[in-house]
Amino acid sequence: MFSYRHGFHAGNHADVLKHMVLIAVLKHLTAKPTAVTVVDTHAGAGLYRLDSDFAGTSGEAQDGIVKLWASPLAAEPPPLLADYLELVASFNPSGKKKIYPGSPFVTQALLRQDPRDKLWLFELHPTDSKALADHVAQIEDHRMVAVKREDGFEGLRALIPPPSRRGLVLIDPSYEIKNDYGRVAACIQESLKKFATGTYMVWYPVIPRPEAHELPRRLKTLANQAGKPWLHATLNIGQAPERAKTHTPGEQPMRQGLTASGVFLINPPHTLKAPLQEVLPQLVEVLGRGRGQGQVVESGG
Ligand code: SAM
Repeated sequence: MFSYRHGFHAGNHADVLKHMVLIAVLKHLTAKPTAVTVVDTHAGAGLYRLDSDFAGTSGEAQDGIVKLWASPLAAEPPPLLADYLELVASFNPSGKKKIYPGSPFVTQALLRQDPRDKLWLFELHPTDSKALADHVAQIEDHRMVAVKREDGFEGLRALIPPPSRRGLVLIDPSYEIKNDYGRVAACIQESLKKFATGTYMVWYPVIPRPEAHELPRRLKTLANQAGKPWLHATLNIGQAPERAKTHTPGEQPMRQGLTASGVFLINPPHTLKAPLQEVLPQLVEVLGRGRGQGQVVESGG
């Protein structure tokens, strides 16, 4: 049923945007002593090898974290990027950059080793779900992490509002099923009624498909109707120059892959917009490939 495997995409430009913002949100949520609950409805395998067959097949990290590591920006990163690079580096203590943490491990690294903080991870793919459970089992104290091989949209229902009323819902589907766009919007609409003060973060691909185009608009409408503040950011690395002109006979023209993605937050940290406005143009400078490259940061409510 599911052909999407995040291993092919780990560390790409979309992960850079998503995980950088995720870290900022979690730092904000954990700045107060109140217990925090995070529900990651589409968790993936949790940890990825950048030198694996998966990552090597599409090489998407080359246009993401790998390019970033090699850039002068990595030597003097603005605050949001510094936190992101530091966290990824903490998974590679030898200095050799081989491991890339997915959202479960990014989150786990920032939650407090306090049984009150809780992380719920939903992953439906049998292989990735097993890999995720195995990775989580290796965390020294994993009492605060629960892995469920269940539908994340469904599982979320029973978990909100969390007892402390402080938490994040990360919704990061692969959108290989067109229905996912509608399910995200329905899930946000329903969840905001049950847990109006929660922070919600939705990732989506910017692709020429009406549902993808509509999703941020629908989310804006839902946030505005609920009277909640929102923040929307996109990062577009643009089209790589056509390699077909220079490639040798028989060589395949380069696959462009995903060129842009967005994150939409409801009840975002009020401190997030300014540093995002600072860092995104710098990321475009480093990761941009050409035609169409750019970024957007907008907010409302
Ligand atoms: N959040 C991860 C990260 O940032 O590292 C990446 C997640 S990946 C984009 C989406 C994942 O959702 C895939 O591993 C897929 O198998 C899983 N999935 C798809 N539909 C699902 C559903 N309804 N409930 C839970 N997981 C689902």
